[in-house]
Amino acid sequence: MNISEKVNIWEKCDPSTTEAINCFQKHWGPYSSSSRRYPIINLVEEIIDPAVNVYMNSIPASYKMFIPGAEAGIGFSGMLKLIGFEPYQRLQRQLLRQFCMTTELTDAQVQCFIDTVESLITLVGSCQDKRPKKSSMAPGVNLNDKRIKRFCKLCGELTEFAKFAASVDANQINDLELLEHTKLELSHQYCNKHRPKLTCGKWNSIYKRDRRSLDQFNTELQRLTNQCAKRAQPNAKSGNALIDQYFFRLMLNLTLQPADKAELRNLARRMVDSKLSDAKKRMLLLKRTGFSQAEIGKQILNVKQQPITRQAVSKALASVRKEFLL
Ligand SMILES: [Zn+2]
Repeated sequence: MNISEKVNIWEKCDPSTTEAINCFQKHWGPYSSSSRRYPIINLVEEIIDPAVNVYMNSIPASYKMFIPGAEAGIGFSGMLKLIGFEPYQRLQRQLLRQFCMTTELTDAQVQCFIDTVESLITLVGSCQDKRPKKSSMAPGVNLNDKRIKRFCKLCGELTEFAKFAASVDANQINDLELLEHTKLELSHQYCNKHRPKLTCGKWNSIYKRDRRSLDQFNTELQRLTNQCAKRAQPNAKSGNALIDQYFFRLMLNLTLQPADKAELRNLARRMVDSKLSDAKKRMLLLKRTGFSQAEIGKQILNVKQQPITRQAVSKALASVRKEFLL
């Protein structure tokens, strides 16, 4: 299942909300969050709002404090317009977590409330990712974009949410785990290893470290992807001929295809993590071309724009991970 194409409705979701979401999906073809002609929020207002309103009037008043805007009388689409798709999901997830912590979870009405809210959160996530049908049919770019969205921003793993959705889909998850998951804030952007905050509430140091190198990660990923798409000649488009040559030769040793998104992302991650700088890439290429370490030193300048010593070249080359040697 492509999560951005099909909204995952939770089992015990309120029946009329379920019906509304199904109806919504039948009509949402041309709509998207970025379209001016077919703004998806209008469709939400038209189809989802009435069902949610009816449901909200059927639940105990005390539940309303766990629905963004409900106490102030702001409707579902109204709240989305007010704060945006992404913050809405975060806020609703947080409120739902509070609800789960303060409420006995055995009651059928409680379970229905949780599943309805979860379904609405999923719906908002899908609206956010939704692309108009036409452009998703176009080859290449859009489809790839969609796939990338399911990956952790910092590596080749699926986001926590995508992984969760996949395991629900494959029936690899039991009811108890499902209940546990409703208490967690699953990340739509990061994998389990890279979630910004740990379950205990502390900041995740791996996230912090890798977030700092996000630009470099994206740069390396772009180069690898460029080279992968046109293997017969240097095509990394790094702006430096030696670096382009490096990627060209590195890729010749690998069997990766442009469709191997996860592998490419993990390769880029390892490249950044192992500190394979552009200077090192140029050194590796020169070495491969037959230059001695002393000669390489003359061609690679340090930060002070001076040639580097043979020893420094030797040290730099010795630090390169085996998989990145040419
Ligand atoms: Zn990750």
